[in-house]
Amino acid sequence: MTYRGRFAPSPTGALHFGSLVAALAGWLDARAAGGQWLLRIEDLDTPRNRPGATDAILRTLEGLGLHWDGEVRVQSRHLDAYRAALEALRVAGHAYPCACTRTEVAAAATRSGIEGPVYPGTCRDGLPAGRSARAWRVRVDDRAVGFDDRIRGRIVQHLESDIGDFVVHRADGIFAYQLAVVVDDAAQGITDVVRGADLLDSTPRQVRLQQLLALPVPRHAHLPLALNAQRQKLSKQTFAPAVELREGDGADDAAVPWLRRTLAFLGQPLPPIDAGRDALLAFATAHWSIARVPPRDSVVDG
Ligand code: GLU
Repeated sequence: MTYRGRFAPSPTGALHFGSLVAALAGWLDARAAGGQWLLRIEDLDTPRNRPGATDAILRTLEGLGLHWDGEVRVQSRHLDAYRAALEALRVAGHAYPCACTRTEVAAAATRSGIEGPVYPGTCRDGLPAGRSARAWRVRVDDRAVGFDDRIRGRIVQHLESDIGDFVVHRADGIFAYQLAVVVDDAAQGITDVVRGADLLDSTPRQVRLQQLLALPVPRHAHLPLALNAQRQKLSKQTFAPAVELREGDGADDAAVPWLRRTLAFLGQPLPPIDAGRDALLAFATAHWSIARVPPRDSVVDG
């Protein structure tokens, strides 16, 4: 089977070092396997989108020399596909409507002595009298759901006790990330998911949805997170600096320091110091080894 990977940024702001780790590792893993690397813009959570962010992301990837294959898939153009998946789950009895507000979920969980945000199953057997549906949830059971991560090894969750029935269509009418991602990965024929370890926890839910919807389960590799000095994941919320590439002369070489830093973070050998962008990427592809990627998160400057 031909390798098909993807990079799936949300257009909530500019790329930062953390996004670069996912983009470069995914690109190298695909290129080293002679495969394809697809791009998807995850813009379903419309209140979080920022105008101009998609264009800025595409320009930055081009400036870094991380070219993608085929058309960019933009989630907001595929609402019918998510709707059809939700309908299939509903018809098969896997999804049910839920009336609970966040406060009610938290209160009911506390009453039943459940730790964390585990859904206590209030609406599982039907909506309480006089209440109407807000969200849709998928029913889970306590069978172990596991996968073999290429970096972290075997990961297992018991969805019922670890997560509870989870939301696939949100109370604000937005299809949940968990549902959209499995529909998209199948539609794009993705064989390999390479992404940050912040999503490690989501993967068993995605595997479960793939089982319920009879979709292929891709291989997974969850990358270490880049943390700031306060040990927070770099993100727009923690004010991670944007990857900025100078325009004009030598723009390609503006990518070099960012790419070298990212390769070092990923535990890969560095090319000769005078290598330009394309030579650096060729060297990194030839030497790429996922076995050298450290499984632990680490602190980076800025
Ligand atoms: N859109 C997600 C993010 O930016 C990534 C989703 C994924 O790779 O599955 O964190």
